[in-house]
Amino acid sequence: AAIETPVKLEDLSLQIGASIGVALAPEHGEDLTALMSHADTAMYEAKAQQSGWQFYRHEHDSNDPRRLELISELRRAIQNRSLDVWYQPRIDLSDRTVVGAEALARWNHERYGFVPPDEFIVLAEGAGLMRDLTDAILERTISDIRRWADYGIKLQIAVKLSTRNLLDDSLSSRVAKMLAKSGVPSDRLSFEITETAIMVDRERVAGLLGEFHDLDITLAIDDYGTGYSSLAYLRELPVDELKIDRSFITNVDFDPHKEVIVRSTIEMAHNLGLVVVAEGIEREEEFAMLASLNCDFAQGNLMSKALPAEQFEHWLAAHGHPPKPPVIDRVTDLCP
Ligand code: C2E
Ligand code: CA
Repeated sequence: AAIETPVKLEDLSLQIGASIGVALAPEHGEDLTALMSHADTAMYEAKAQQSGWQFYRHEHDSNDPRRLELISELRRAIQNRSLDVWYQPRIDLSDRTVVGAEALARWNHERYGFVPPDEFIVLAEGAGLMRDLTDAILERTISDIRRWADYGIKLQIAVKLSTRNLLDDSLSSRVAKMLAKSGVPSDRLSFEITETAIMVDRERVAGLLGEFHDLDITLAIDDYGTGYSSLAYLRELPVDELKIDRSFITNVDFDPHKEVIVRSTIEMAHNLGLVVVAEGIEREEEFAMLASLNCDFAQGNLMSKALPAEQFEHWLAAHGHPPKPPVIDRVTDLCP
């Protein structure tokens, strides 16, 4: 009741709600960690039910032991900077040159091996770790861009932002600081945002995108076609690129419906001044079809899967990008 009393903020009267989760000792746990995590689960259940409060109940616990363990270890992996970033090259469809890459988070867990990003990103979102995770990915990516620039490799790298990141008002100033500190020009960085994330809070997101745009960071709509937004609305935002979702690209060469959708999306996007990227190209025929439809850039396993930074550098070298100058790491290299 106390929380729900309206708060006056200048001319606005704001009403705040709360959801409460309750765990009892000893039924639901005998130590602080167990009680807190069960109270947390009950809190999420209260939110989902919009019931205000809930007692912990085992049957509602989607926090199976693996999940709980993963969350606490993910937190540690983010803090220790032991998450990895892999890169998937992006090709210019007209001449097959490499123009950039997409940064994809990877987590190699001591016991479980590689945890799929789909899984740990959702965990991070739910556990309030997205800000730190994205900062870690950005730091790593910017330092890789810096290193490649030193080798004379000029690429633009795309980093994904999640819904949570788009509600983080201080993100643009943190990014600006990271770029300034590393001396990486901001046009080497792009952000990918899904339609769904934009729709969560359009006005706020539009403001944040404006800040990125002012920093000269390229903005791309990711997974285009899977949400419900119109291209006309998206165009009101300061976005530069459209990434057509893999589901439309797969078999575009022999599915006439997909061809129509992809063709008209590319035409419309071009008319609105947007660059178009096709993702998930796996076959030469798909590549050829997209080239004939005047799509600008392509990504997919046909060219390369996402690779660890070092392998990506070898891949670049094999595709005509300045190879690494020989580096003498250790004195032992000189005296075998
Ligand atoms: P997404 O944004 O749709 O990313 C593209 C996914 O498709 C990646 O999977 C990529 O490896 C995969 N892919 C690329 N080309 C092909 C292809 O030709 N065929 C097939 N079958 N797959 C292809 P990945 O790396 O497992 O990532 C899955 C999802 O996890 C991503 O989907 C994204 O939603 C999320 N994710 C990954 N890294 C990050 C990150 O750093 N930040 C955020 N916020 N989300 C991330
Ligand atoms: Ca995507």
